[in-house]
Amino acid sequence: MEAKNTQTFRSLSDNVGQFSLKGKTFLIPEMNRIGSHLIAGTFKGFGINAQIMDTYKGLDLGKEFTSGKECYPCQVTLGDILLFMKKEKERLGDGFDPEKYVYFMPEASGPCRFGMYNKYQRIVLDSFPELKKLKIGSLTTENSYSLEGMIDKGETRNLRKVAFFSVVVADILDRLLWRVRPYEKKPGLADAFIEKAMETMCRAFETYGGKRAFDKILDELEGVIEEGKSIIDPTIPRKPMIGMVGEIYLRTHTASNQDVIRLLEQYGAEVVNASIAEWVNFTTYENKRNAMLALRLNLKQFRLKKVRRYFKQLLSHGIDLFYQQYRQKQIYRRVETLIDLPGDHQVAHLEEVLKEKDLFSFDVGTEACLSIAGIMEYIREGYNGVVNVYPFTCMPSTMTSAVVKPILTRAKVPYLDTPYDGSYQPGREAAIRTFMYQAEQHQKRKGRKEKETYDNKNAH
Ligand code: SF4
Repeated sequence: MEAKNTQTFRSLSDNVGQFSLKGKTFLIPEMNRIGSHLIAGTFKGFGINAQIMDTYKGLDLGKEFTSGKECYPCQVTLGDILLFMKKEKERLGDGFDPEKYVYFMPEASGPCRFGMYNKYQRIVLDSFPELKKLKIGSLTTENSYSLEGMIDKGETRNLRKVAFFSVVVADILDRLLWRVRPYEKKPGLADAFIEKAMETMCRAFETYGGKRAFDKILDELEGVIEEGKSIIDPTIPRKPMIGMVGEIYLRTHTASNQDVIRLLEQYGAEVVNASIAEWVNFTTYENKRNAMLALRLNLKQFRLKKVRRYFKQLLSHGIDLFYQQYRQKQIYRRVETLIDLPGDHQVAHLEEVLKEKDLFSFDVGTEACLSIAGIMEYIREGYNGVVNVYPFTCMPSTMTSAVVKPILTRAKVPYLDTPYDGSYQPGREAAIRTFMYQAEQHQKRKGRKEKETYDNKNAH
């Protein structure tokens, strides 16, 4: 494929948006591995031919067609789609037709650059004459990732519900892996198990998702958890708990973050990463919050037409949020009876945490809201260390780092920033080793304190 020098902005609006997926191959970039595959399984359950593209192998292409100033996830995903298209063209020859695919690249509003990825990638795709007709299917946080226009109208809400369900189940599988792997009876057991578990759950979503048979999916999940539990060697004592926050793509895309969770585990950690459902709930919560603010403002100014509009929006986002949290709780409650996995944070509670400590405001938006409040919760829950994972130059994560560092220093909780841009930093492993030493010391200190408190109580 050869790029043309003259860029055209013509197809920006034509070829980025919500397009029907009927008869198309829906190309999904891999972010967190399990989550992406379960989403694909969900779409398949609704009769859509969804496919996860190989990831990270096209990074050279991604870098070739970016200037270096773009966010790192934009480079990685651009490389994924360019390499995929290149291979399809080689495979199909004259039969290659870009109109048969829709490439999935969502967007978000707000001060972050995520909203620009699909626009920038459109310009790059347009510079290849044969890729001008490849459509970018975009969902936006502004309408809580509504799927309108992409599938049959009667199915949009159902698909959205099952997709959310798959996000929570994927979070559970990730948490199961991080709970089990540091204590596995034999090296490699957990990795082999989780691949099999992912396939089982993909099949469950393909088979039962379209029928919205949530109980059947949960039955499968229970079986998976029971199997996962059997991998744990009960003689291995609990390890230092490390909480992870950061930019959603980097902290979940193991190739981009050079498998930082595994590296932390190698040096003795048990890690809990912030969940994906938390982000989905956050976008719905933000929409509800914005509708409420707009409603109040228009009420004051007595603009009745707008009052009606924002009231409707408030109601709709409120119902979505209620539904999501209800489903999430339902799944976590069922899992709790089987294994001690950490629960998820409620977004309203996280906003309260920020307000109470006067640390940051949801008015600013971005993932910094979740990361800063999430770190406060890790401290409260007694974690032994916190890691912030993000793309080099990422604005919300840099804000997070600036806000939390002094707090963590005062709280004497070890903290580590790990920015990534595709290069290998020679000092990274040493930094993680030192961080884990500090986390171990923190765990021992905490253990001593708890013992003292227990002894004192029993002495009286
Ligand atoms: S969160 Fe960071 S990496 Fe993601 S778009 Fe915003 S600035 Fe870029």
